[in-house]
Amino acid sequence: MTYDIIVVGAGPAGLTAALYALRAGKSVLILEKGAFGGQATFSPKIENYPGMTEISGSDLADKMVEQVLYQGADVDVEEVVEIKNEGNLKKVVTDSGEHLARAVIVATGAHHRRLGVEGEDKFIGEGISFCAVCDGAFYKDKKVLVIGGGNSALQEALSLSEICEEVTIVQNLAFFTGEERLQALINKKDNVSVIFSHTVERVLGDTAFEGIVIKGEKGERELKADGMFVAIGLVPEMKAFESVIELDERGYAKSGEACITKTEGIYVAGDCRTKDVRQISTACADGAIAALTAVKYVENL
Ligand SMILES: Cc1cc2nc3c(=O)[nH]c(=O)nc-3n(C[C@H](O)[C@H](O)[C@H](O)COP(=O)(O)OP(=O)(O)OC[C@H]3O[C@@H](n4cnc5c(N)ncnc54)[C@H](O)[C@@H]3O)c2cc1C
Repeated sequence: MTYDIIVVGAGPAGLTAALYALRAGKSVLILEKGAFGGQATFSPKIENYPGMTEISGSDLADKMVEQVLYQGADVDVEEVVEIKNEGNLKKVVTDSGEHLARAVIVATGAHHRRLGVEGEDKFIGEGISFCAVCDGAFYKDKKVLVIGGGNSALQEALSLSEICEEVTIVQNLAFFTGEERLQALINKKDNVSVIFSHTVERVLGDTAFEGIVIKGEKGERELKADGMFVAIGLVPEMKAFESVIELDERGYAKSGEACITKTEGIYVAGDCRTKDVRQISTACADGAIAALTAVKYVENL
């Protein structure tokens, strides 16, 4: 079967794109390699998605999936490894086969770079976070750690300093790599301290996050805290699409608010594209835009 639109990735962007395309009367296949719902499924509590006072990421994801199934989406668990542009048709190659579509929306998101240390996986979403805007409020008047020294780490530390009692930044280098303007703001904060030239060795805690062990020239030591924000970079999931989508220097899809790419009939949506704010609401907005543009393209073929 040739689909009108194939959506790659079932995060908030992909699911919203599918919803809009289905409601415009198009046939849609969603291909997802992992968890339906995307990154949001890692969040135990979401409080900034309009209309929901408080909802877990997995409940929100379930509702989004239920909605696209109700509208008639086909879904498959497959990893897309390449898209071949064959003019009016696009061949979507996966780890287990091939699918054809008139248009494709790539909504493969990004994942936060992990520390890769012992104990980390256990507490992601329950003590270890990657987003102060999303989770900072859960640490009101508490002690938190921020790992990293670039712009995002400094920004995370600044926003946490407004909420938390104490913020400790741990940076592996002897200096920050973030902007001087942000460094100056950090220096003015009484409740922010910095530990340079230390790496995170492991996470402490059996059933709840208790802190970390860090290592510097003088050996190892423990840092106790209520939570930790890891800000050592985001990794976009775009490598497989390089032949049809131009990427920026950091590997994100080069595309403006219109979500179009260098290839006619191929669109991008959500965290995988160059943008300033990566949130569920902005991913959904992209999904709607990409879908409506793709629908128009398909109708004009
Ligand atoms: C722990 C955590 C908490 C968060 N909390 C909040 C919050 O409270 N509020 C908020 O607004 N935002 C929050 N965010 C951010 C939010 O989850 C993301 O901005 C949003 O999910 C981005 O949506 P997306 O659809 O663009 O990408 P993603 O959610 O990353 O979804 C992309 C999907 O594509 C799939 N995929 C990738 N490559 C392929 C491939 N080759 N083939 C098939 N499938 C593929 C992935 O498996 C994934 O399911 C949080 C993020 C994290 C990690």
